[in-house]
Amino acid sequence: MHWLFGDQLGPHFLLPSEDIGLTRDTPLLMIEARSVFRRRRFHRAKAHLVLSAMRHRAAELGDRVTYVRADTYREGLARVAAGAEVTVHHPTSYAALRLVRSLPDVAVGPARGFLVPTADFTTWADGHGGRRLRQEDFYRWVRRGHDLLMDGDQPVGGRWNLDHDNRRPPPRGAAVLPVAAPYRPREDAVDDEVRHDLDLWEKDGDVSFVGRDGPRLFPATRAEARTALRHFVEHRLGAFGPFEDAMLAADPAMSHSLLSSSLNLGLLDPAECVESAEAAWRAGRAPLNSVEGFVRQIAGWREYVWQLYWYFGEDYRHSNALRHFAPLPDWWSDLDADDVRARCLRTALAQVRDTGWTHHIPRLMILGGYALQRGWDPAAVTDWFHRCFVDGYDWVMVPNVVGMSQYADGGRMTTKPYTSGGAYVNRMSDLCGPCVHRPGDRTGAHACPYTAGYWAFLDRHRSLLERNHRTARAVRGLDRLADLDEVRRQEGARGDTPP
Ligand code: FAD
Repeated sequence: MHWLFGDQLGPHFLLPSEDIGLTRDTPLLMIEARSVFRRRRFHRAKAHLVLSAMRHRAAELGDRVTYVRADTYREGLARVAAGAEVTVHHPTSYAALRLVRSLPDVAVGPARGFLVPTADFTTWADGHGGRRLRQEDFYRWVRRGHDLLMDGDQPVGGRWNLDHDNRRPPPRGAAVLPVAAPYRPREDAVDDEVRHDLDLWEKDGDVSFVGRDGPRLFPATRAEARTALRHFVEHRLGAFGPFEDAMLAADPAMSHSLLSSSLNLGLLDPAECVESAEAAWRAGRAPLNSVEGFVRQIAGWREYVWQLYWYFGEDYRHSNALRHFAPLPDWWSDLDADDVRARCLRTALAQVRDTGWTHHIPRLMILGGYALQRGWDPAAVTDWFHRCFVDGYDWVMVPNVVGMSQYADGGRMTTKPYTSGGAYVNRMSDLCGPCVHRPGDRTGAHACPYTAGYWAFLDRHRSLLERNHRTARAVRGLDRLADLDEVRRQEGARGDTPP
Protein backbone atom coordinates (compact mmCIF):
# COMPACT_ATOMS: atom_id res chain seq x y z
CA MET A 1 0.00 0.00 0.00
CA HIS A 2 1.34 3.46 -0.88
CA TRP A 3 0.53 6.45 1.33
CA LEU A 4 -0.03 9.85 -0.29
CA PHE A 5 0.36 12.89 1.93
CA GLY A 6 -1.92 15.89 1.27
CA ASP A 7 0.84 17.68 -0.64
CA GLN A 8 1.54 14.74 -2.97
CA LEU A 9 -1.52 14.97 -5.16
CA GLY A 10 -0.31 15.12 -8.76
CA PRO A 11 0.31 12.27 -11.22
CA HIS A 12 4.10 12.52 -10.76
CA PHE A 13 3.66 11.06 -7.27
CA LEU A 14 2.22 7.89 -8.79
CA LEU A 15 4.81 7.20 -11.46
CA PRO A 16 6.10 3.66 -10.95
CA SER A 17 9.20 3.49 -8.78
CA GLU A 18 11.47 0.49 -8.31
CA ASP A 19 13.00 2.09 -5.17
CA ILE A 20 9.86 1.47 -3.19
CA GLY A 21 8.08 -1.05 -5.42
CA LEU A 22 5.37 1.39 -6.50
CA THR A 23 3.47 0.10 -9.56
CA ARG A 24 0.40 1.27 -11.46
CA ASP A 25 -1.74 -1.11 -9.40
CA THR A 26 -0.39 -0.48 -5.89
CA PRO A 27 -3.36 0.30 -3.62
CA LEU A 28 -3.24 3.82 -2.20
CA LEU A 29 -3.92 5.32 1.20
CA MET A 30 -4.77 8.90 2.12
CA ILE A 31 -5.29 10.06 5.71
CA GLU A 32 -7.16 13.21 6.66
CA ALA A 33 -5.93 13.87 10.20
CA ARG A 34 -8.06 16.27 12.21
CA SER A 35 -5.29 16.83 14.77
CA VAL A 36 -3.34 18.83 12.16
CA PHE A 37 -6.04 21.52 12.28
CA ARG A 38 -6.56 21.29 16.02
CA ARG A 39 -2.94 22.00 16.87
CA ARG A 40 -2.73 25.43 15.22
CA ARG A 41 -5.02 28.23 14.16
CA PHE A 42 -4.89 28.05 10.36
CA HIS A 43 -6.45 30.39 7.84
CA ARG A 44 -9.80 28.89 7.01
CA ALA A 45 -9.28 29.28 3.27
CA LYS A 46 -6.10 27.23 3.60
CA ALA A 47 -7.83 24.45 5.53
CA HIS A 48 -10.55 24.53 2.89
CA LEU A 49 -8.09 24.32 -0.02
CA VAL A 50 -6.08 21.45 1.44
CA LEU A 51 -9.16 19.37 2.34
CA SER A 52 -10.84 20.14 -0.96
CA ALA A 53 -7.74 19.10 -2.90
CA MET A 54 -7.37 15.84 -0.93
CA ARG A 55 -11.02 14.90 -1.27
CA HIS A 56 -11.06 15.76 -4.99
CA ARG A 57 -8.00 13.56 -5.49
CA ALA A 58 -9.57 10.70 -3.56
CA ALA A 59 -12.69 10.95 -5.74
CA GLU A 60 -10.52 10.80 -8.88
CA LEU A 61 -8.62 7.77 -7.65
CA GLY A 62 -11.85 5.92 -6.87
CA ASP A 63 -11.54 2.33 -5.67
CA ARG A 64 -7.76 2.39 -5.78
CA VAL A 65 -7.57 4.58 -2.69
CA THR A 66 -8.64 4.06 0.91
CA TYR A 67 -9.44 7.50 2.30
CA VAL A 68 -9.37 7.58 6.09
CA ARG A 69 -10.68 10.35 8.31
CA ALA A 70 -8.86 9.93 11.59
CA ASP A 71 -7.74 11.90 14.57
CA THR A 72 -4.02 11.42 13.86
CA TYR A 73 -1.91 9.89 11.10
CA ARG A 74 -0.82 7.13 13.45
CA GLU A 75 -4.40 6.23 14.26
CA GLY A 76 -5.44 6.30 10.59
CA LEU A 77 -2.56 4.08 9.63
CA ALA A 78 -3.25 1.62 12.44
CA ARG A 79 -6.88 1.43 11.36
CA VAL A 80 -6.33 0.37 7.75
CA ALA A 81 -2.74 -0.72 7.34
CA ALA A 82 -1.83 -2.46 10.60
CA GLY A 83 0.87 -5.02 9.83
CA ALA A 84 0.84 -4.22 6.10
CA GLU A 85 3.89 -2.89 4.30
CA VAL A 86 3.45 0.76 3.46
CA THR A 87 5.54 2.95 1.16
CA VAL A 88 5.60 6.74 0.99
CA HIS A 89 7.53 9.40 -0.89
CA HIS A 90 9.85 11.51 1.26
CA PRO A 91 7.56 13.97 3.08
CA THR A 92 8.16 17.72 3.08
CA SER A 93 8.79 18.47 6.75
CA TYR A 94 11.11 17.23 9.49
CA ALA A 95 8.10 16.39 11.66
CA ALA A 96 6.48 14.22 8.98
CA LEU A 97 9.80 12.59 8.12
CA ARG A 98 10.34 11.71 11.80
CA LEU A 99 6.84 10.25 11.94
CA VAL A 100 7.20 8.00 8.88
CA ARG A 101 10.66 6.88 9.96
CA SER A 102 9.35 5.96 13.40
CA LEU A 103 6.74 3.60 11.94
CA PRO A 104 7.89 0.00 11.72
CA ASP A 105 6.47 -1.03 8.34
CA VAL A 106 6.88 2.16 6.35
CA ALA A 107 9.51 2.44 3.59
CA VAL A 108 10.40 5.99 2.53
CA GLY A 109 11.27 6.68 -1.13
CA PRO A 110 12.94 9.73 -2.65
CA ALA A 111 11.15 13.09 -2.73
CA ARG A 112 9.15 14.04 -5.82
CA GLY A 113 8.02 17.46 -7.00
CA PHE A 114 11.41 19.17 -7.14
CA LEU A 115 14.00 19.50 -9.89
CA VAL A 116 17.16 18.52 -8.01
CA PRO A 117 17.68 15.48 -5.74
CA THR A 118 18.80 16.61 -2.28
CA ALA A 119 21.95 14.46 -2.48
CA ASP A 120 23.03 16.36 -5.63
CA PHE A 121 22.47 19.66 -3.86
CA THR A 122 24.54 18.50 -0.90
CA THR A 123 27.41 17.64 -3.24
CA TRP A 124 27.09 21.04 -4.93
CA ALA A 125 26.90 22.94 -1.65
CA ASP A 126 29.70 21.01 0.04
CA GLY A 127 31.85 21.75 -3.00
CA HIS A 128 31.89 25.40 -1.93
CA GLY A 129 34.39 24.60 0.81
CA GLY A 130 32.46 26.56 3.42
CA ARG A 131 32.16 29.69 1.26
CA ARG A 132 28.77 31.42 1.28
CA LEU A 133 26.13 29.76 -0.87
CA ARG A 134 24.58 32.08 -3.41
CA GLN A 135 21.17 31.58 -4.97
CA GLU A 136 22.45 33.04 -8.24
CA ASP A 137 25.20 30.38 -8.50
CA PHE A 138 22.72 27.62 -7.66
CA TYR A 139 20.24 28.93 -10.22
CA ARG A 140 22.86 28.91 -13.00
CA TRP A 141 23.87 25.39 -12.02
CA VAL A 142 20.22 24.26 -12.28
CA ARG A 143 19.77 26.02 -15.63
CA ARG A 144 22.82 24.22 -17.03
CA GLY A 145 21.87 20.86 -15.48
CA HIS A 146 18.30 21.00 -16.79
CA ASP A 147 19.08 22.76 -20.05
CA LEU A 148 16.69 25.56 -19.20
CA LEU A 149 16.84 28.67 -21.40
CA MET A 150 20.24 27.55 -22.65
CA ASP A 151 21.99 27.90 -25.97
CA GLY A 152 24.65 25.22 -25.69
CA ASP A 153 26.49 26.07 -22.49
CA GLN A 154 25.50 29.74 -22.61
CA PRO A 155 22.28 31.37 -21.40
CA VAL A 156 19.93 32.31 -24.25
CA GLY A 157 20.25 36.00 -25.06
CA GLY A 158 23.77 36.03 -23.57
CA ARG A 159 22.82 37.00 -19.99
CA TRP A 160 21.85 34.87 -17.01
CA ASN A 161 20.09 37.60 -15.16
CA LEU A 162 17.60 40.04 -16.67
CA ASP A 163 16.65 41.74 -13.41
CA HIS A 164 17.60 45.15 -14.73
CA ASP A 165 14.76 44.86 -17.32
CA ASN A 166 12.38 43.86 -14.55
CA ARG A 167 11.47 45.34 -11.16
CA ARG A 168 9.82 48.45 -12.55
CA PRO A 169 7.40 50.58 -10.52
CA PRO A 170 3.75 50.16 -11.55
CA PRO A 171 2.62 52.03 -14.67
CA ARG A 172 1.94 55.65 -13.73
CA GLY A 173 -1.71 56.39 -13.04
CA ALA A 174 -2.88 52.78 -13.47
CA ALA A 175 -5.15 51.41 -10.73
CA VAL A 176 -4.71 47.88 -12.07
CA LEU A 177 -2.17 46.30 -14.38
CA PRO A 178 -3.46 46.14 -17.98
CA VAL A 179 -3.34 42.36 -18.16
CA ALA A 180 -5.95 39.57 -18.29
CA ALA A 181 -7.46 38.63 -14.92
CA PRO A 182 -6.06 35.45 -13.33
CA TYR A 183 -7.82 32.11 -13.69
CA ARG A 184 -10.16 31.37 -10.82
CA PRO A 185 -11.77 27.96 -10.27
CA ARG A 186 -15.44 27.26 -9.76
CA GLU A 187 -16.51 25.56 -6.53
CA ASP A 188 -18.41 22.26 -6.60
CA ALA A 189 -20.13 19.79 -4.28
CA VAL A 190 -16.82 18.74 -2.71
CA ASP A 191 -16.25 22.36 -1.63
CA ASP A 192 -19.77 22.50 -0.19
CA GLU A 193 -19.05 19.40 1.86
CA VAL A 194 -15.70 20.80 3.07
CA ARG A 195 -17.30 24.09 4.08
CA HIS A 196 -20.04 22.23 5.93
CA ASP A 197 -17.45 20.13 7.81
CA LEU A 198 -15.36 23.15 8.74
CA ASP A 199 -18.49 24.88 10.07
CA LEU A 200 -19.24 21.83 12.21
CA TRP A 201 -15.70 21.55 13.56
CA GLU A 202 -15.74 25.21 14.49
CA LYS A 203 -19.17 24.91 16.09
CA ASP A 204 -18.01 21.93 18.15
CA GLY A 205 -15.18 24.12 19.44
CA ASP A 206 -12.83 21.49 18.10
CA VAL A 207 -10.82 23.82 15.90
CA SER A 208 -10.52 27.55 15.44
CA PHE A 209 -9.60 29.36 12.27
CA VAL A 210 -8.53 32.82 11.25
CA GLY A 211 -9.36 34.69 8.03
CA ARG A 212 -12.25 34.46 5.60
CA ASP A 213 -13.21 31.41 3.58
CA GLY A 214 -14.84 33.06 0.60
CA PRO A 215 -15.21 31.29 -2.72
CA ARG A 216 -12.16 29.07 -3.25
CA LEU A 217 -9.61 31.08 -5.27
CA PHE A 218 -6.92 28.47 -5.93
CA PRO A 219 -6.93 25.17 -7.84
CA ALA A 220 -7.86 22.00 -5.95
CA THR A 221 -7.49 19.55 -8.84
CA ARG A 222 -4.88 18.73 -11.41
CA ALA A 223 -7.26 19.85 -14.18
CA GLU A 224 -7.80 23.24 -12.50
CA ALA A 225 -4.07 23.66 -11.88
CA ARG A 226 -3.26 22.83 -15.53
CA THR A 227 -5.84 25.38 -16.68
CA ALA A 228 -4.35 27.97 -14.31
CA LEU A 229 -0.84 27.31 -15.69
CA ARG A 230 -2.01 27.49 -19.31
CA HIS A 231 -3.96 30.69 -18.68
CA PHE A 232 -0.98 32.30 -16.97
CA VAL A 233 1.50 31.37 -19.71
CA GLU A 234 -0.83 32.45 -22.52
CA HIS A 235 -2.26 35.63 -21.07
CA ARG A 236 -0.19 36.93 -18.16
CA LEU A 237 3.41 35.76 -18.38
CA GLY A 238 4.38 38.57 -20.76
CA ALA A 239 3.84 41.23 -18.08
CA PHE A 240 5.34 39.14 -15.25
CA GLY A 241 8.92 40.40 -15.40
CA PRO A 242 8.64 44.18 -15.55
CA PHE A 243 6.14 44.45 -12.69
CA GLU A 244 7.33 41.53 -10.57
CA ASP A 245 8.10 43.76 -7.58
CA ALA A 246 5.42 46.43 -8.05
CA MET A 247 2.30 46.78 -5.90
CA LEU A 248 -1.09 48.35 -6.63
CA ALA A 249 -3.70 48.74 -3.89
CA ALA A 250 -6.56 47.59 -6.14
CA ASP A 251 -4.65 44.79 -7.88
CA PRO A 252 -3.26 42.21 -5.44
CA ALA A 253 -2.35 39.64 -8.11
CA MET A 254 -0.67 42.03 -10.59
CA SER A 255 0.91 39.67 -13.15
CA HIS A 256 1.92 36.95 -10.71
CA SER A 257 1.14 33.37 -11.54
CA LEU A 258 -0.77 32.38 -8.37
CA LEU A 259 0.65 28.89 -8.87
CA SER A 260 2.43 28.47 -5.53
CA SER A 261 -0.38 26.59 -3.81
CA SER A 262 -0.75 24.24 -6.81
CA LEU A 263 2.98 23.55 -6.85
CA ASN A 264 3.09 23.01 -3.11
CA LEU A 265 0.07 20.69 -3.09
CA GLY A 266 1.91 18.67 -5.73
CA LEU A 267 -0.79 19.33 -8.35
CA LEU A 268 1.82 20.79 -10.69
CA ASP A 269 5.39 19.69 -11.22
CA PRO A 270 7.95 22.53 -11.38
CA ALA A 271 9.44 21.06 -14.56
CA GLU A 272 6.20 21.48 -16.51
CA CYS A 273 5.88 25.10 -15.32
CA VAL A 274 9.34 26.20 -16.42
CA GLU A 275 9.15 24.16 -19.63
CA SER A 276 5.87 25.73 -20.71
CA ALA A 277 7.25 29.21 -19.98
CA GLU A 278 10.36 28.46 -22.04
CA ALA A 279 8.21 27.07 -24.87
CA ALA A 280 6.21 30.32 -24.90
CA TRP A 281 9.45 32.30 -25.34
CA ARG A 282 10.76 29.96 -28.07
CA ALA A 283 7.45 30.36 -29.91
CA GLY A 284 7.74 34.15 -29.66
CA ARG A 285 4.72 34.38 -27.37
CA ALA A 286 6.47 35.90 -24.33
CA PRO A 287 9.50 38.17 -23.89
CA LEU A 288 12.72 36.77 -22.45
CA ASN A 289 12.87 39.07 -19.42
CA SER A 290 9.48 37.80 -18.18
CA VAL A 291 10.24 34.17 -18.95
CA GLU A 292 13.67 34.34 -17.31
CA GLY A 293 12.13 36.06 -14.26
CA PHE A 294 9.52 33.32 -13.90
CA VAL A 295 12.02 30.48 -14.45
CA ARG A 296 14.29 32.11 -11.82
CA GLN A 297 11.42 32.09 -9.30
CA ILE A 298 10.75 28.38 -9.74
CA ALA A 299 14.07 26.79 -10.76
CA GLY A 300 16.01 29.30 -8.69
CA TRP A 301 14.16 30.44 -5.60
CA ARG A 302 11.64 27.66 -4.96
CA GLU A 303 14.20 24.97 -5.52
CA TYR A 304 16.87 26.76 -3.46
CA VAL A 305 14.49 27.21 -0.51
CA TRP A 306 13.57 23.50 -0.58
CA GLN A 307 17.20 22.47 -0.64
CA LEU A 308 18.26 24.86 2.14
CA TYR A 309 15.48 23.59 4.40
CA TRP A 310 17.17 20.18 4.44
CA TYR A 311 20.76 21.34 4.05
CA PHE A 312 20.71 23.74 7.00
CA GLY A 313 19.22 21.06 9.27
CA GLU A 314 16.40 20.92 11.75
CA ASP A 315 17.83 23.40 14.24
CA TYR A 316 17.95 26.18 11.64
CA ARG A 317 14.32 27.02 12.46
CA HIS A 318 15.40 28.13 15.96
CA SER A 319 17.94 30.67 14.64
CA ASN A 320 17.62 34.07 16.29
CA ALA A 321 20.82 35.95 15.45
CA LEU A 322 19.26 39.36 16.13
CA ARG A 323 17.88 38.17 19.48
CA HIS A 324 14.33 39.24 18.69
CA PHE A 325 11.85 38.01 21.28
CA ALA A 326 8.75 40.25 21.09
CA PRO A 327 5.41 38.40 20.68
CA LEU A 328 3.05 39.17 17.79
CA PRO A 329 0.28 41.59 18.80
CA ASP A 330 -3.31 40.31 18.75
CA TRP A 331 -4.45 42.59 15.93
CA TRP A 332 -1.78 41.00 13.74
CA SER A 333 -2.53 37.42 14.76
CA ASP A 334 -6.26 37.99 14.26
CA LEU A 335 -5.69 39.69 10.87
CA ASP A 336 -7.53 42.79 12.07
CA ALA A 337 -6.59 44.86 9.05
CA ASP A 338 -9.29 47.44 9.73
CA ASP A 339 -7.48 48.54 12.91
CA VAL A 340 -4.42 49.55 10.88
CA ARG A 341 -4.05 53.07 9.45
CA ALA A 342 -0.81 52.61 7.49
CA ARG A 343 -2.29 51.96 4.05
CA CYS A 344 0.36 49.54 2.82
CA LEU A 345 0.10 47.32 5.89
CA ARG A 346 -3.68 47.57 6.02
CA THR A 347 -3.89 46.52 2.35
CA ALA A 348 -1.48 43.59 2.72
CA LEU A 349 -3.06 42.34 5.95
CA ALA A 350 -6.54 42.59 4.40
CA GLN A 351 -5.32 40.54 1.43
CA VAL A 352 -4.11 37.86 3.82
CA ARG A 353 -7.38 37.97 5.78
CA ASP A 354 -9.54 37.75 2.65
CA THR A 355 -7.52 35.37 0.48
CA GLY A 356 -4.61 33.81 2.41
CA TRP A 357 -2.23 35.10 -0.25
CA THR A 358 -0.19 38.16 -1.21
CA HIS A 359 2.63 38.35 -3.70
CA HIS A 360 6.27 38.27 -2.64
CA ILE A 361 6.86 41.99 -2.08
CA PRO A 362 4.02 42.51 0.43
CA ARG A 363 5.28 39.34 2.18
CA LEU A 364 8.89 40.49 2.25
CA MET A 365 8.83 44.25 2.49
CA ILE A 366 5.47 45.05 4.12
CA LEU A 367 4.58 42.14 6.40
CA GLY A 368 8.02 40.65 7.04
CA GLY A 369 9.60 44.12 7.12
CA TYR A 370 7.21 45.35 9.80
CA ALA A 371 7.89 42.29 11.98
CA LEU A 372 11.66 42.63 11.55
CA GLN A 373 11.69 46.32 12.40
CA ARG A 374 9.64 45.68 15.56
CA GLY A 375 11.87 42.83 16.74
CA TRP A 376 9.21 40.11 16.76
CA ASP A 377 10.24 36.55 17.55
CA PRO A 378 11.20 34.97 14.19
CA ALA A 379 9.78 31.57 15.18
CA ALA A 380 6.40 33.18 15.92
CA VAL A 381 6.56 35.12 12.64
CA THR A 382 7.33 31.87 10.77
CA ASP A 383 4.42 30.14 12.45
CA TRP A 384 2.10 33.01 11.54
CA PHE A 385 3.09 32.94 7.87
CA HIS A 386 2.77 29.16 7.79
CA ARG A 387 -0.76 29.19 9.21
CA CYS A 388 -2.08 32.20 7.31
CA PHE A 389 -0.92 31.60 3.74
CA VAL A 390 -2.59 29.09 1.42
CA ASP A 391 0.83 28.05 0.08
CA GLY A 392 2.56 27.88 3.48
CA TYR A 393 4.34 24.63 4.39
CA ASP A 394 7.16 24.09 6.84
CA TRP A 395 9.86 23.59 4.18
CA VAL A 396 9.03 26.80 2.37
CA MET A 397 8.29 29.02 5.34
CA VAL A 398 11.34 28.27 7.45
CA PRO A 399 14.03 29.50 4.98
CA ASN A 400 11.81 32.27 3.59
CA VAL A 401 10.94 33.73 6.98
CA VAL A 402 13.83 32.78 9.27
CA GLY A 403 16.47 33.45 6.59
CA MET A 404 15.14 35.71 3.90
CA SER A 405 12.68 37.90 5.75
CA GLN A 406 13.84 38.04 9.40
CA TYR A 407 17.62 37.67 8.94
CA ALA A 408 17.46 35.42 11.99
CA ASP A 409 20.21 33.20 10.56
CA GLY A 410 22.65 36.11 10.67
CA GLY A 411 23.23 35.99 6.90
CA ARG A 412 23.50 32.33 5.94
CA MET A 413 20.80 32.76 3.30
CA THR A 414 20.96 36.43 2.34
CA THR A 415 23.77 38.94 2.43
CA LYS A 416 21.79 41.60 4.32
CA PRO A 417 18.47 42.10 6.10
CA TYR A 418 15.62 42.94 3.72
CA THR A 419 13.89 45.97 5.13
CA SER A 420 13.32 49.50 3.94
CA GLY A 421 11.74 52.80 4.78
CA GLY A 422 8.56 54.14 3.22
CA ALA A 423 10.47 55.56 0.23
CA TYR A 424 10.78 52.06 -1.28
CA VAL A 425 7.04 51.40 -0.86
CA ASN A 426 6.29 54.81 -2.33
CA ARG A 427 8.48 54.17 -5.37
CA MET A 428 7.15 50.67 -6.04
CA SER A 429 3.42 51.19 -5.42
CA ASP A 430 0.44 53.53 -5.31
CA LEU A 431 -0.04 52.79 -1.61
CA CYS A 432 1.46 55.87 0.00
CA GLY A 433 -0.42 58.69 -1.78
CA PRO A 434 -3.63 58.78 0.31
CA CYS A 435 -2.02 57.32 3.46
CA VAL A 436 -2.21 59.27 6.74
CA HIS A 437 1.51 58.63 7.15
CA ARG A 438 4.11 60.29 4.92
CA PRO A 439 7.03 58.20 3.68
CA GLY A 440 9.38 61.18 4.10
CA ASP A 441 8.46 61.79 7.77
CA ARG A 442 10.47 60.04 10.47
CA THR A 443 8.83 61.70 13.43
CA GLY A 444 5.66 63.58 14.29
CA ALA A 445 1.98 63.05 13.66
CA HIS A 446 2.48 61.75 10.11
CA ALA A 447 5.64 59.73 10.67
CA CYS A 448 5.71 56.67 8.40
CA PRO A 449 6.11 53.58 10.63
CA TYR A 450 8.36 51.97 8.00
CA THR A 451 10.65 54.98 7.67
CA ALA A 452 10.95 55.43 11.43
CA GLY A 453 11.13 51.66 11.95
CA TYR A 454 13.93 51.34 9.40
CA TRP A 455 16.15 53.84 11.22
CA ALA A 456 15.28 52.43 14.63
CA PHE A 457 16.21 48.95 13.34
CA LEU A 458 19.58 50.13 11.99
CA ASP A 459 20.22 51.96 15.24
CA ARG A 460 19.40 48.90 17.39
CA HIS A 461 21.67 46.63 15.34
CA ARG A 462 24.32 49.17 14.50
CA SER A 463 27.28 47.19 15.77
CA LEU A 464 26.35 44.18 13.62
CA LEU A 465 25.26 46.03 10.49
CA GLU A 466 28.20 48.44 10.29
CA ARG A 467 30.47 45.41 9.83
CA ASN A 468 28.47 44.24 6.79
CA HIS A 469 29.65 45.96 3.61
CA ARG A 470 26.10 45.82 2.19
CA THR A 471 24.62 47.77 5.11
CA ALA A 472 27.58 49.83 6.38
CA ARG A 473 26.68 52.86 4.27
CA ALA A 474 23.08 52.86 5.46
CA VAL A 475 24.27 52.65 9.06
CA ARG A 476 26.53 55.69 8.53
CA GLY A 477 23.37 57.55 7.51
CA LEU A 478 22.29 57.36 11.17
CA ASP A 479 24.97 59.92 11.99
CA ARG A 480 23.25 62.47 9.77
CA LEU A 481 19.90 62.18 11.55
CA ALA A 482 19.38 65.20 13.76
CA ASP A 483 16.24 63.64 15.21
CA LEU A 484 17.60 60.17 16.05
CA ASP A 485 16.78 60.55 19.74
CA GLU A 486 13.22 61.43 18.87
CA VAL A 487 13.02 58.40 16.50
CA ARG A 488 14.26 56.19 19.36
CA ARG A 489 11.73 57.62 21.78
CA GLN A 490 8.85 57.41 19.32
CA GLU A 491 9.57 53.83 18.24
CA GLY A 492 10.28 52.71 21.80
CA ALA A 493 6.83 53.94 22.80
CA ARG A 494 5.03 52.35 19.85
CA GLY A 495 4.32 49.10 21.71
CA ASP A 496 1.63 46.90 20.25
CA THR A 497 -0.51 49.68 18.82
CA PRO A 498 -1.41 49.13 15.16
CA PRO A 499 0.38 51.79 13.06
P1 FAD B 1 5.05 34.08 -8.63
O1 FAD B 1 5.55 35.42 -8.30
O2 FAD B 1 4.21 33.94 -9.84
O3 FAD B 1 6.33 33.13 -8.74
C1 FAD B 1 6.27 31.87 -9.39
C2 FAD B 1 6.56 30.74 -8.43
O4 FAD B 1 7.88 30.84 -7.94
C3 FAD B 1 5.70 30.68 -7.19
O5 FAD B 1 4.45 30.10 -7.48
C4 FAD B 1 6.54 29.86 -6.25
O6 FAD B 1 6.28 28.49 -6.44
C5 FAD B 1 7.95 30.15 -6.70
N1 FAD B 1 8.69 30.99 -5.75
C6 FAD B 1 9.13 32.24 -5.95
N2 FAD B 1 9.83 32.67 -4.91
C7 FAD B 1 9.84 31.68 -4.02
C8 FAD B 1 10.42 31.53 -2.73
N3 FAD B 1 11.13 32.51 -2.16
N4 FAD B 1 10.20 30.39 -2.08
C9 FAD B 1 9.48 29.39 -2.65
N5 FAD B 1 8.93 29.48 -3.86
C10 FAD B 1 9.11 30.61 -4.54
N6 FAD B 1 6.15 30.73 -1.24
C11 FAD B 1 5.44 29.62 -1.02
O7 FAD B 1 5.18 28.85 -1.95
N7 FAD B 1 4.99 29.31 0.22
C12 FAD B 1 5.24 30.10 1.27
O8 FAD B 1 4.85 29.78 2.36
C13 FAD B 1 5.99 31.29 1.08
N8 FAD B 1 6.24 32.12 2.10
C14 FAD B 1 6.97 33.25 1.91
C15 FAD B 1 7.23 34.09 2.99
C16 FAD B 1 7.99 35.22 2.82
C17 FAD B 1 8.29 36.10 4.00
C18 FAD B 1 8.50 35.52 1.55
C19 FAD B 1 9.35 36.72 1.34
C20 FAD B 1 8.21 34.72 0.47
C21 FAD B 1 7.45 33.57 0.63
N9 FAD B 1 7.14 32.71 -0.44
C22 FAD B 1 6.43 31.57 -0.22
C23 FAD B 1 7.66 32.97 -1.78
C24 FAD B 1 6.75 33.79 -2.69
O9 FAD B 1 6.36 34.97 -2.03
C25 FAD B 1 5.50 33.02 -3.12
O10 FAD B 1 5.87 31.77 -3.65
C26 FAD B 1 4.72 33.77 -4.18
O11 FAD B 1 4.40 35.05 -3.74
C27 FAD B 1 3.48 32.99 -4.54
O12 FAD B 1 2.72 33.67 -5.49
P2 FAD B 1 2.77 33.27 -7.02
O13 FAD B 1 2.49 31.83 -7.16
O14 FAD B 1 1.92 34.21 -7.77
O15 FAD B 1 4.29 33.51 -7.36
